[in-house]
Amino acid sequence: MIIAPERIPVAGPSITEREAELAAEAARTAWYANHYAYNARFERMMADYVGVKHAVSVPHATAALHLILAALGIGPGDEVIVPDVTWIASVAPVTYVGAEPVLVDILPDTWCIDPHAVEAAIGPKTKAILGVDLYGSMCDWQALQDIADRHGVHLIEDSAEALGSRYRGRRAGSFGRAAAFSFHGSKTVATGEGGMLVTDDDDLHQRVLCLRDHGRAPGDHRRFINQEIAFKYRMNGVTAALGVAQMERIDTLIAHKRAIFDWYRQRLGGLNGITLNAEPEGSENSFWMVTVVLDPALGLDKFSLMAEFDKRNIDTRPFFSPLSSMQAFADRPAAKRLVTPHDKGQAIARHGINLPSGYNMTEDKADIVAGALREILADKT
Ligand SMILES: *Cc1c(COP(=O)(O)O)cnc(C)c1O
Repeated sequence: MIIAPERIPVAGPSITEREAELAAEAARTAWYANHYAYNARFERMMADYVGVKHAVSVPHATAALHLILAALGIGPGDEVIVPDVTWIASVAPVTYVGAEPVLVDILPDTWCIDPHAVEAAIGPKTKAILGVDLYGSMCDWQALQDIADRHGVHLIEDSAEALGSRYRGRRAGSFGRAAAFSFHGSKTVATGEGGMLVTDDDDLHQRVLCLRDHGRAPGDHRRFINQEIAFKYRMNGVTAALGVAQMERIDTLIAHKRAIFDWYRQRLGGLNGITLNAEPEGSENSFWMVTVVLDPALGLDKFSLMAEFDKRNIDTRPFFSPLSSMQAFADRPAAKRLVTPHDKGQAIARHGINLPSGYNMTEDKADIVAGALREILADKT
């Protein structure tokens, strides 16, 4: 049996002396008149990279999504259409504002929300559609925007997993009214915890600045007048400095992610019964996590597959489980009413895992992981 000599982790950042240097500099200097200097730099770099006007640094992507929904005035009695298969952080903020998520199926190739399922789910209470760029794959943003326009509802992008991906030439984060990025330690750009709200919309931007600062008008640094009860969602300056250093290296980081995927593709691409991340014509995938989905006919579910890798000293993650299948949504029948129980997405979520995709991956480690997968599958057939 192939056993990795050292545990191969599933995810992790690329941190150089530059990150340490800027974090230390911020700890020394990001005070008094300079307190927002690193946040402002990080925000400008993100907005420019994504290709939108505004970026607002926040403590995490969950906060960014919460702020977007609140700024759009979504609340009790409203519904937001979301994919059934995603990390729960995409959907939990819908409940924070008192609205009801409506879970719908995903596409079999990109694993993103199915525009036909979205169309079928639109009703009188629908206020927004939230697309998630899963594992770096891009949603069919054109189809989603058409639906949103036709029905007069908002479109929101959860691009937490897709920094650097493109759809028809435009970068992830530039679709819909606003988008959310995450800088959790496992993400493409990592600051430990952290997030960014990006938008092209001036009014939405102003509204977000007020909402994330306890309802103080943007620019009210002296009067401390609260116009409403709101939230406290600001990013720490040292965290922002880490983000600046990461964004200085963004092209290298994305190139590394794409190289990791290529190493796996070369070793696993021809293997029967497996599917890797898609990169359809007209899109570019920054491959946050290399993901392999097994043909259900192989009879190996994701948790058994993970256990096999674990025996070989290799860490993996399960494909996100359908939210409709989770205890967390047990008392939300309205959320689950439009999921198709035998949809292909349900099978994908049962038979998929993320392979090690952290920045400490090397071609030698890809050899070990790919060899392990071949060995596991050979035992099955
Ligand atoms: C990581 C992630 C989030 C949440 O990011 P946090 O910064 O942890 O709040 C949201 N949506 C998706 C799809 C994610 O992968």
